[in-house]
Amino acid sequence: MKADSEIHLLLNRRVVGIEMEDTCGHVTVRSGGETERLRAPVVVNCLWENRRAFDVAVGIDGVPDYTTRFKYGVVLEADPYIKALDSITIIQGPFGNFVVDPNRQGAYCSWYPASLKGTVTDDAIPDAWDAACGQDAPPDVAEEVGKANLAAFRKILPGLPDVSILRAKPGLIPAEGATDIDNETSAFHRRSDAALLSKGRYVSINTGKYTSAPRNAMRLQRHLCQAGYL
Ligand SMILES: Cc1cc2nc3c(=O)[nH]c(=O)nc-3n(C[C@H](O)[C@H](O)[C@H](O)COP(=O)(O)OP(=O)(O)OC[C@H]3O[C@@H](n4cnc5c(N)ncnc54)[C@H](O)[C@@H]3O)c2cc1C
Repeated sequence: MKADSEIHLLLNRRVVGIEMEDTCGHVTVRSGGETERLRAPVVVNCLWENRRAFDVAVGIDGVPDYTTRFKYGVVLEADPYIKALDSITIIQGPFGNFVVDPNRQGAYCSWYPASLKGTVTDDAIPDAWDAACGQDAPPDVAEEVGKANLAAFRKILPGLPDVSILRAKPGLIPAEGATDIDNETSAFHRRSDAALLSKGRYVSINTGKYTSAPRNAMRLQRHLCQAGYL
């Protein structure tokens, strides 16, 4: 992006408002005490959390119901047992995964019921979640979540040793749907089918899952080309 002189990165700003007109949009951003109102011919909302609130505010009809989950990922000491596991996903009732990189000292793991710590079904994300995201959890929280993960995985992998918990990091997972993963018809199971919503010169696209981001970026590009904006 830095190599393209047409792209201007405006970092460390929080989007606090979006207003659309027939020929352009205005995005209000805040940084420290400063507020700026930016004008653009087309506005693409590709936020993760907080995206739905702007879709509703600009007046898109039929914005689907959303649930936001607060979930931890844990990094454990990758001892020889874990290194030998390799990266695995386990679906046994709930689900969880290990991501093991042979060249790293730590291995990622997350067992869904042990790592999920909260759910909200409206757009009001608790301030405490906002503050906790983007940084490692305090050591006592990491220890508690890590131990709960180890205990849960040990029911399936009885030989899993009591390795050290290196760190844990929380994140938010917004998704269409209102029922949890134990409901097989829950929209949580179709996150890769994220909707592309639009109204005039406003377009909203959801990453869906990290792994579906490239596909959704292509869908966005196609939409912008077909609408004559690219
Ligand atoms: C524990 C956990 C495990 C996961 N496991 C998987 C997995 O196995 N596979 C998979 O595919 N995906 C997984 N995901 C989902 C994956 O992490 C997300 O799909 C991906 O991070 C979303 O990327 P993004 O760029 O859309 O959002 P993010 O990486 O979350 O970035 C969004 C950014 O927008 C900022 N922001 C929010 N509101 C505003 C605002 N109003 N103004 C300005 N900036 C704002 C945030 O601070 C943040 O920096 C997992 C998520 C979690 C939390």
